[in-house]
Amino acid sequence: MSRTSDVHEHARHFIGGEWVEPKGEGSFEVIDATTEAVMGRVPAGNAEDAAMAVAAAKAAFPAWSQTDVATRAGFLEAASAKLKERADAIADIVSREVGMPRKLALPVQVLLPIGNLRTFAKRAREMPFEEELGSSVLLREPVGVVVAITPWNYPLHQVVAKVGAALAAGCTVVLKPSEVAPLSAYALAHAFAEVGLPPGVLNLVSGDGATVGEALVESPDVDMVTFTGSTRAGRRVSEVGARTIKRVHLELGGKSAFVILDDADLGAAVKAGVKNCYLNGGQTCSAWTRMLVPAGKRDEAVAIAKSVAETFTVGDPFEGTTRLGPMASGAQRDRIRTYVQKGVEEGATLVTGGAEPPEGLDTGFFVRPTVFADVTPDMTIAREEIFGPVLSILTYEEEDDAVRIANDSIYGLHGGVFSADVERAKRVARRLRTGQVDINGGRFNAEAPFGGYKQSGNGREYGAIGIEEFLEYKSLQL
Ligand code: NAD
Repeated sequence: MSRTSDVHEHARHFIGGEWVEPKGEGSFEVIDATTEAVMGRVPAGNAEDAAMAVAAAKAAFPAWSQTDVATRAGFLEAASAKLKERADAIADIVSREVGMPRKLALPVQVLLPIGNLRTFAKRAREMPFEEELGSSVLLREPVGVVVAITPWNYPLHQVVAKVGAALAAGCTVVLKPSEVAPLSAYALAHAFAEVGLPPGVLNLVSGDGATVGEALVESPDVDMVTFTGSTRAGRRVSEVGARTIKRVHLELGGKSAFVILDDADLGAAVKAGVKNCYLNGGQTCSAWTRMLVPAGKRDEAVAIAKSVAETFTVGDPFEGTTRLGPMASGAQRDRIRTYVQKGVEEGATLVTGGAEPPEGLDTGFFVRPTVFADVTPDMTIAREEIFGPVLSILTYEEEDDAVRIANDSIYGLHGGVFSADVERAKRVARRLRTGQVDINGGRFNAEAPFGGYKQSGNGREYGAIGIEEFLEYKSLQL
């Protein structure tokens, strides 16, 4: 696990089965979050590139949508195997782009999504594409040409959640990855090209959201947009997509609550909560950023959170001792520091961390692992998504109060409940208005539907339900 200084140059888009010269001019630099050196370049596409990719996907749809599901599943499995051969190299790339410690990046950022490609293949094979429904035959048909727009924080994971499910369903795809962390998407396109995916079934165009992203969303030849990113950009994608009544699937931001009930093992719960909040430097949409503790346990919980947070050694993701790498960009680092300052200004108690750069780390987009106590539900740090290692501890009096505070958010992506009594934890979890809730630290399940209530979005990803999102129902009455 040693850091490389390789520079990954990608000068072309992947359209219609060929690596083609961009029509747009210029490129985006991909920056190594630790060294701030350029580690790659991708083309800055324009509306013409977007139109060419959509045309290729449209041309490929009739044949691809008619393929046998076993054929589609076979391509997913073959691409998964190709990616696995390069798993270490991809983990190096994602660690450098996003800042996740390299030892975690391999299982979380690479092996998990590679496995998800195989899961989609398996679930598609079991999918009832045709079934009887009384006097009707119910057909599940692919929705058509899909545009997939993804963010930078789990770059391969989010690409696979969309591309894997859409291809399994029989859709053709135009992928526009984040311009901040686009390199693993190129690895995916190469893998599909090498295993002989028919031309135009998967297309990759690089560029920014305002130029390429909007051109794709606007296109009347696109049937569905699947978007993961900020609520701000998701709102815009919805507006533009509405003009042509396309299906718009959104996976957006979060401000998830972690409810520690009064009977819970406080040490285990607080430790799990801090770890969850700091995963990937806090650059995780589902992170439990609001920890809700019984008022009587405030002091104890704060002391535990402080000591756990202080074990998160900040540094180069390629150092074995590092538990918190840099943030993905300078803009992200600055945003986090502004939120930390705001927390102090609005009267929260800074328990550990702070807005100043960590000592001795002048280069790289580093921030301090931070814990705030005495946060009230009206404070900015309790309401807005920070997307960094900043934990807010709030207190509550009774269980009902905890549920009310947890649900007092425009978001509803995720959450957690800890209790000595699993049935009690489940009762509380049922009352949370979110798409997922982990009970007593329940692990991520890549088959379980993932997505948000409220302004966290409107779709679900992964597993069989993730494939369903890319299907239309047609009924034939006999
Ligand atoms: P972002 O919204 O800035 O960008 C996401 C993608 O959208 C990028 O590819 C970007 O180029 C594109 N984009 C931006 N504006 C666009 C527009 N007007 N039209 C079309 N495309 C546009 O988000 P980000 O900073 O890359 O990612 C962080 C955000 O993603 C956070 O809010 C996080 O919570 C969210 N996220 C959500 C989930 C989920 O599953 N719910 C998962 C991961 C990240």
